[in-house]
Amino acid sequence: MAFLVVLGGGESGVGTAILGQKKGFDVFVSDKGKIKEKYKNVLEHIGIDWEESKHSEEKIMKADVVMKSPGIPDSVPLVKELVNKGIPVISEIEFASRYTDAKIIGITGSNGKTTTTMLTYHILKSGGLNVAMAGNIGDSFAKMVAEENFDYYVLEISSFQLDGIREFKPHISIITNITPDHLDRYEYKFENYIASKFLITKNQTIEDCFIYDADDEVIANWLKEHPVKSKLLPFSLKESLKEGACIEENEIKITTQVDTIKMMTDSLALEGQHNLKNTMAAAMVAKLVGIRKETIRECISNFQGAPHRLEKVLKIHHVQYINDSKATNVNATYYALESVKTPVVWIVGGVDKGNEYKELMPLVREKVKAIVCLGIDNEKIKDTFGNVVDLLVETYAMEEAVKVAYKIAERGDTVLLSPACASFDLFQNYEDRGNQFKNCVKNL
Ligand code: ADP
Repeated sequence: MAFLVVLGGGESGVGTAILGQKKGFDVFVSDKGKIKEKYKNVLEHIGIDWEESKHSEEKIMKADVVMKSPGIPDSVPLVKELVNKGIPVISEIEFASRYTDAKIIGITGSNGKTTTTMLTYHILKSGGLNVAMAGNIGDSFAKMVAEENFDYYVLEISSFQLDGIREFKPHISIITNITPDHLDRYEYKFENYIASKFLITKNQTIEDCFIYDADDEVIANWLKEHPVKSKLLPFSLKESLKEGACIEENEIKITTQVDTIKMMTDSLALEGQHNLKNTMAAAMVAKLVGIRKETIRECISNFQGAPHRLEKVLKIHHVQYINDSKATNVNATYYALESVKTPVVWIVGGVDKGNEYKELMPLVREKVKAIVCLGIDNEKIKDTFGNVVDLLVETYAMEEAVKVAYKIAERGDTVLLSPACASFDLFQNYEDRGNQFKNCVKNL
């Protein structure tokens, strides 16, 4: 019996364990931290051996194959040792994809993964396909492969998952965009991070499609130096394209080898230029898998966006409150500020991952009337924008921030929580931050 060791007892680890057991592996789950009760119960219930708060090296080194959860860096000594010994260390998507013939739509990028994944799933499901959504979003892909039988999977895929692939080959891959992120896991080299994202195309052939943002210079330049074998389907807001998706006279025009379809852009459910791109990418997938134009059109106008992404919370005294807590980097906040058409009271701050705020400067000058800093350390934001906006206030709790913003905002303004930073200084995670914002707004 082959021996599968699963490092990390979270969603992807436990999913892999379930699938591994079903496929006849002897499975052992090892987590250096604590495993959540709900996962322990699952493992106990199906009789899978596990440990927590340690890694029993001797046992782990006997593995035939190791699935490493995405949160564990390659640099930890145990992983290095496994690799040195020649034991294959793979990711959940690699493992799970070995056991399904379903068509896979793999979606990666620095921003827009979740939105594009959810919208794609929404259209495919509405079009009547037997489709599931998995990966970084919701349930583990491996668990779904173990327990159900889908024809299509729409997968949100992080670069950490891609780092552990060998043969994983999506039928359709998407890179929404690439901006510097998670560089601590890539030796602080942007090119390593770009290469990791492009692994999504590594095993594709001309039979498979690669959808990407042609306006993104990082992607365009990389493709010049590193051609991929997949069929290229770019999308662009700037250029007219012979094949792919572009904008012509306020319509999204999608051209594939088969035909061309057009859809109006004024009735889209998701606002902002970035969401127009996400919509184009999702619509292109839908077109490629044969969804009717009418269904695509209906879905892109009735889609309820994901929470914490430019989520409209309430209008109070003609002031719109928007929760964009998921904007944990500058690029995401750029598009948030870009999408708002009124003067903005901007709640920003948190844990800065080496932010360069320069690119926000024109938008801040044009739209932001006041900044409410919300973080333990607000120095950089103060230094950068202190002289640019009329008013800058420091706050250290959500309730305080929302009350201050409420006092400043006037009829017709927008209060935008788009932090451009991680949340761990004052909150458990971005969801906690967004939920606190929504509650405070509702209590005003
Ligand atoms: P991800 O899953 O990649 O983090 P999300 O869809 O959750 O992406 O969006 C994260 C943040 O980025 C949100 O603030 C959202 O408004 C913004 N965003 C969404 N799509 C894009 C895009 N195509 N380009 C830049 N920012 C985007």
